[in-house]
Amino acid sequence: MPSHLVDRLRKRGYRLTAQRRVVAEVLDGENLHLTADEVHKRAAVLLPEISRATVYNTVQQFAEIGEVLELSLNGRSKHYDPNIHPAHHHLICDHCGLVYDVAHSIPAPPLDESELHEMVIERTEIVYHGTCAGCR
Ligand SMILES: [Zn+2]
Ligand SMILES: [Zn+2]
Repeated sequence: MPSHLVDRLRKRGYRLTAQRRVVAEVLDGENLHLTADEVHKRAAVLLPEISRATVYNTVQQFAEIGEVLELSLNGRSKHYDPNIHPAHHHLICDHCGLVYDVAHSIPAPPLDESELHEMVIERTEIVYHGTCAGCR
């Protein structure tokens, strides 16, 4: 059972203002990978005065402290994933942007010293691209 984002933030002593709380609540959920715009749309339903800039900054902060994963699934907009554990891959429809979690998480193949170019790998992202049933 994945932990909830709001609980994790509270546990680490993160100051949850009303705005941050709403952003965290909207982001949280199974199989949800919202863009910042989508987060803003949903957050504004709960807190009409919340600005787009606040939402953008807040999701960015959550990503920086490692509580949310920032994914470049379709090369257009970033998607935010609150389910940092267990590690998982993603399946995306390139037409409508529908995203599913892939439950298994075979680690990406390790790179040889010669392929690393002295980089330190922090994470890998594996994305399966396709066309969903609705778009076919
Ligand atoms: Zn689709
Ligand atoms: Zn995911």
